[in-house]
Amino acid sequence: MRRSVLDPLIRSRAARTPGVDLLLGHRVTALVREAERTAGVRASTGAGEREIGARLVVGADGKDSAVAKLCGVPSRLHENGRFGYLAHFRGLPLHGGIGHTWFLEPDMAYAFPNDDGVTVLAVLPDKKRLPAFREDLEGSFFSFVRALPQAPPIDDAERISKIVGTVDYPLVSRRPTAPGVAWIGDAALTGDPLWGVGCGWALQSAQWLTEAVAPAATRRGDLDRSLAVYARRHRRRLRGHQSLAIDYARMSHLLSVVCSHGRQTRLCTARRRARADRRPRRGPGTPAADATRRLLRPHGVGSGRGGPAASAMDPTVIVPGVVAC
Ligand SMILES: Cc1cc2nc3c(=O)[nH]c(=O)nc-3n(C[C@H](O)[C@H](O)[C@H](O)COP(=O)(O)OP(=O)(O)OC[C@H]3O[C@@H](n4cnc5c(N)ncnc54)[C@H](O)[C@@H]3O)c2cc1C
Repeated sequence: MRRSVLDPLIRSRAARTPGVDLLLGHRVTALVREAERTAGVRASTGAGEREIGARLVVGADGKDSAVAKLCGVPSRLHENGRFGYLAHFRGLPLHGGIGHTWFLEPDMAYAFPNDDGVTVLAVLPDKKRLPAFREDLEGSFFSFVRALPQAPPIDDAERISKIVGTVDYPLVSRRPTAPGVAWIGDAALTGDPLWGVGCGWALQSAQWLTEAVAPAATRRGDLDRSLAVYARRHRRRLRGHQSLAIDYARMSHLLSVVCSHGRQTRLCTARRRARADRRPRRGPGTPAADATRRLLRPHGVGSGRGGPAASAMDPTVIVPGVVAC
């Protein structure tokens, strides 16, 4: 679903919900503090500044969260080794009518059916390619797609949007609560757009917060305890995914295996693999590297098994081999 459809849908749903006052055109500029707690916000509006008191302020203000900055909550940034551009097309049929993802290692691409017969096509190459890619953005985008295995017929389709993108998109993690404040969506945790899960996580984390704080918000419970319940659930449900995404975005633990039409070339040696296997399992990156390896191993490529793996792959989902190093 395109944002031009999703965002108005969410806004109108909010406006129709009993108990919600939807205040459009408000920008949070400061927090109201009372006894070491956040107790509301100051916002600039078309009609000037106003103050809004609240038992709980929810920062749903995205990756560069102003509420987090104003509250002094630190952000952890994780490098993303890829850049990304996307565009929307009409008349771009996808094989089987389903989404496709190309893991070409390190480059990546996806094509997903959106609403109203529209398809979104995204390319996410290695950042090393950025200067050359930008010299002719449209030409580079189209050439990249044409070169994909079983490429969607991009030259027969109608492009109905600009090619838009992001050239530096670090992943962000924050503690999702502070006294009187909670963060949801990208403000709490910004993943890699490559996985296409950010909107789902935003809505899901909003639901977790609601479930945790509803009794306390209606003054029947302990708000701080409820926030701790939310923080725990957020951490347990999303931290593993984020670790995996951070590892994959960093690309440093990946050694590529080139796959094309059943041919695979190993770029790692058995000795290097053995060394990686002997390495003690500790440090923050290791569990995620293991998880990545486990995730991709069933496809057989780069797992130390032989050639049949490539031919056993679904030809439209190209999964490269991964080894820890
Ligand atoms: C190129 C790209 C492709 C992506 N593709 C996908 C995809 O296919 N699927 C998917 O699920 N996700 C995708 N994502 C991720 C997705 O966009 C985000 O995860 C999602 O938008 C997060 O929603 P959010 O509400 O937390 O934050 P946002 O959508 O960033 O919304 C934050 C809102 O807060 C407002 N705001 C900011 N500061 C203030 C302030 N001081 N006062 C008041 N309001 C403020 C902003 O104006 C904005 O409206 C993609 C991201 C990128 C960059």
